[in-house]
Amino acid sequence: MSQRPRNPYSSAEIDRSSHERESEERMIELASSGAARFVPIDTEKNLVKTGGNPEAVFLHGMMARAVAGTADHSIFLGYVDGTPYFAVDVTGKETPLGELGEFVDLRQVGALLFAKEGSILAYARAMTYWHRRHRYCGVCGASTKVTRGGHVRVCTNDSCKTDQFPRTDPAVIMLVHCGDKCLLGRGKQFPRGMHSTLAGFVEPGESFEDAVAREVYEEVKVRVKNVIYRSSQPWPFPASVMIGFHAETDSLEFEVNEDELASALWLSREELRPENLPKDGSFFMPRRDSIARRLIEEWLGHEAGPSIAG
Ligand SMILES: [Zn+2]
Repeated sequence: MSQRPRNPYSSAEIDRSSHERESEERMIELASSGAARFVPIDTEKNLVKTGGNPEAVFLHGMMARAVAGTADHSIFLGYVDGTPYFAVDVTGKETPLGELGEFVDLRQVGALLFAKEGSILAYARAMTYWHRRHRYCGVCGASTKVTRGGHVRVCTNDSCKTDQFPRTDPAVIMLVHCGDKCLLGRGKQFPRGMHSTLAGFVEPGESFEDAVAREVYEEVKVRVKNVIYRSSQPWPFPASVMIGFHAETDSLEFEVNEDELASALWLSREELRPENLPKDGSFFMPRRDSIARRLIEEWLGHEAGPSIAG
């Protein structure tokens, strides 16, 4: 049986070994072992060796100990091929890491990295982002402290002690189609020429299918049916998971809600053939590492999608 391609940044190769987070001693033992690799993050940016094919920089040995020593805590990510990985936030710290590479936004290089590296960097980025925004308890306002390998922050107020867990915000993303045409839109912040699928956050009290129907109606006043799940993708930019669908409609009529979208248009499979796309930059598809691109490619009949090297 052929395996469906995985989406970039998903973490099939990471053994999170969550039971080990329970033991503080085990975490210290692993982090101080020579085998450990550290993933440094500076304000949502990952350390990458650029110039030529980009490569993730993982720290080990003396450099790892020096950098981990300056940070407030490290976060156990799990094992990849038997090697333990930790994320470490170096934001605002003096480190010599600039000699090893450059801190860049993962989205600039993600499509060019090996899949495993992209997954580790995305996971590390998501975890450090959460930590930097949950230093205080949302219930009583006291400070929180890191526990369970960096996967929980617990309130330091003895009469509260509320646990806080890393947060992921679900967002639905959907390719709306009608016969041989699909509907692509332009968000107000999109780079010039980029067209993509519609998308939006799931609200409390909604199923994913409810959110698909509501978002499509809000953005283009189109009613959809046959909402079919396709695949999902971690999207830690900053803290989402994208849940991807195809959704059908009976009519080509639509009306753009200008508060939400700049424009939208129907395109046929023929019009979306690479040789038929305008070459003047007035139309291009979403980035190769995005589920939006995969949803479009799958509808076009290109099952391989944007999956990248293993
Ligand atoms: Zn509290």
